[in-house]
Amino acid sequence: MSDVARSRAAGRKERVRAAEILDRLEETYPDAHCELDFRTPFELLVATMLSAQTTDARVNLVTPRLFSRIEGPQDVLDLGVEAVEDAIRDVGLFRTKARNVVATSEILVGRHEGAVPCDREALEALPGVGPKTASVVLSNAFGVPALAVDTHVFRVAHRLGLSHAKTPDATSQDLMALWAPERWIRAHHTLIFHGRRICDARRPLCASCPVAALCPEGRRRLGSASTSSLSARA
Ligand code: SF4
Repeated sequence: MSDVARSRAAGRKERVRAAEILDRLEETYPDAHCELDFRTPFELLVATMLSAQTTDARVNLVTPRLFSRIEGPQDVLDLGVEAVEDAIRDVGLFRTKARNVVATSEILVGRHEGAVPCDREALEALPGVGPKTASVVLSNAFGVPALAVDTHVFRVAHRLGLSHAKTPDATSQDLMALWAPERWIRAHHTLIFHGRRICDARRPLCASCPVAALCPEGRRRLGSASTSSLSARA
C-alpha cells in the first residue's frame, strides 16, 4: 500500500491520538533501540532468525559463540549444519533454525555475492525469513523505514486501540498508516521497550503508564476515576 493510501485509511483524529501516544512513549524511552547484539547486516539477519519464539536476551547469550566462528555466509557453509546446531542449541527450535541459517547462507553466497540484500523481496525469499525479519534487517541494518510487528508491538498496539487487525502484517499496515515513515523505525523499538517494561503481557503496569489516559485497555483496567486523574496529570 502506498504512503498516501495508508494515510487516508487512518482518520485524522486517530492519527493525532497516535502521534500523542508515540510522542509520550518516545519521551519515556529516549534510548529505545534494537536489543539484539550484532555488528554486521549478516549478524543481524542471523540473530533475528534465531529470535523467533525466543527472547533477545537468550539469543544474545548464544550468538557470541556462533559469531566468533563466522564472519559471513561462506563461513557458515564451511562450518556445516551440525556445528551451527551445537552453537545455538540453547535457543528453541535450534535444529530448524540451524538448517535455515545454512540454507540462507547458501543463497547469499550463490545469488548475492555473500552480502545481505537491501531488498524486501530478496530477503523474504530466504529460508526462515518472513516479513518481520525482513523489516528488522531493512530498518536496523540499512535504515530503510519499516515497522516490524513482534509479539510486544502486536499486544501494545492492540491494547492502545491503534490496530484491531488479526495478523502482525495487517497490524504493521495499520501502524504505518498512523505515523510518518520517518517515525517507523523508532516506533518499533519504542513499542517493544514499552511492552517489555510496562505493558507486560500478564501484568501491565497501567497505573504507572505514561499513556494510560490515551489507552482504552488502561481505562478499562484502571476504571474511569483513576484515568480522570491520569488525564489531569498528563
Ligand atoms: S495503560 Fe496499561 S494496557 Fe494501556 S498501554 Fe499502558 S500499560 Fe498497556
